Amino acid sequence: MTGKVWFVGAGPGDPDLITVKGRDLIARAGAILYAGSLVSEAALRWAPPACEPADSKGMTLEEIADWLIDQARRHETVVRLQTGDPTLYGALIEMARPLDAAGVPWAVVPGVSSALAAAAAAGESLTLPELTQTVILTRVAGRTPMPEGESLEALARHGCTLCIFLSITLLHRVQAELRAAGWPEDAPILVVQKASWPGEERIVRGTLADIKARCQAERIGSQAMIIASPALGARQREAVARSKLYDPAFGHRFRRATLLEEQS
Ligand code: SAH
Repeated sequence: MTGKVWFVGAGPGDPDLITVKGRDLIARAGAILYAGSLVSEAALRWAPPACEPADSKGMTLEEIADWLIDQARRHETVVRLQTGDPTLYGALIEMARPLDAAGVPWAVVPGVSSALAAAAAAGESLTLPELTQTVILTRVAGRTPMPEGESLEALARHGCTLCIFLSITLLHRVQAELRAAGWPEDAPILVVQKASWPGEERIVRGTLADIKARCQAERIGSQAMIIASPALGARQREAVARSKLYDPAFGHRFRRATLLEEQS
């Protein structure tokens, strides 16, 4: 008999932000492997006493895959707990391939990504009517090069919301690429460190011109999400259009337009 490996999104940090499905899988797991430095150990508070959670910090991808395969031969439910959502910058495919080769079934349980937790922390909307209706999740090139056509400069030319992962130590490069794409010096930029972590979350607001200096002053150098968007700060700007969904003159499937109703 072979058990199943579940890649579970632990959420961005607040242990309450794991899904009910993820929590239930942890509660019946025979073995749990978590990404030590990133996943709050509090997420393990639901693990059964017989299960000894292991930290993958210091393991190579091969060692992780071997561990998961070995545990799946002994337990019905094996959980690989990952930060945020497992499908974003989570090495999912590299871990899943050896499982396929070994005939071990696996599945993914989505999680709340840090991009969404950062927007929530700051009370910002990533989309706003007539300003931007598109969100790009990306990073700048570090040791991992960006594929053709995906430089931040090229993506920033769309002028839409950019959620930039894994790049807080490369803020100078983020600034340079946004400038090259034509973003103005006063474009608002938001940085959230440890979004949703109880007592540890920090929010820095700035502009393209000063965001790096502000982050340096606050000593923010890791675990941070950078959001650049024309929608930032819109609640302070009265002129920003409101959503058509709640516009009294706009009917949709669930609510006929008041104006039409008045006419009929
Ligand atoms: N799968 C994760 C991302 C992993 S890559 C997700 O969906 O969120 C790691 C990067 O995610 C970090 O460099 C940082 O940019 C971001 N990150 C992860 N947790 C974060 C948090 N709580 N607050 C802000 N950024 C976070």
